[in-house]
Amino acid sequence: MASRSTTSSRGSSVRYVCDCGLRARMYTSWSLKNPGRRFYICSKTSDIRCDYFEWYDRGFEGRHEEVIIHLNSRRIYLEAKIELLEEKIVQLEAELATKKEKKVARKKQLQKLMKFGCFVIVLLMVVMVIKMQRTVNVNGWQYIM
Ligand SMILES: [Zn+2]
Repeated sequence: MASRSTTSSRGSSVRYVCDCGLRARMYTSWSLKNPGRRFYICSKTSDIRCDYFEWYDRGFEGRHEEVIIHLNSRRIYLEAKIELLEEKIVQLEAELATKKEKKVARKKQLQKLMKFGCFVIVLLMVVMVIKMQRTVNVNGWQYIM
């Protein structure tokens, strides 16, 4: 389909205009089949759909191809591992949030228990003071009133 026409060149990047009038952009494939191989696709907009696609180069050959394929496989493996680790982080963050909520609930329960304990101690002290006031000490003899 689309024959391309060179419109401008800045350094090593060459821009093309597709037959539909939109600018074709260069991308680099990182698929397993064509790692590092550059291609053009038409700029997409919501109004215009264009299927223009063209390889820019043949890709790598020989030792370069081996190295690129190895590195690309390694990249794909590491990206998958990162994704798993990110999922694990989300899971651990959720568990941590749950544990924090439980800790806060336990802390509130403990505070209530402490308040009740303090109340009981104060109550016992009041009872003791009242009992002590009823005890009168006269000439070394204690009388309970
Ligand atoms: Zn186009």
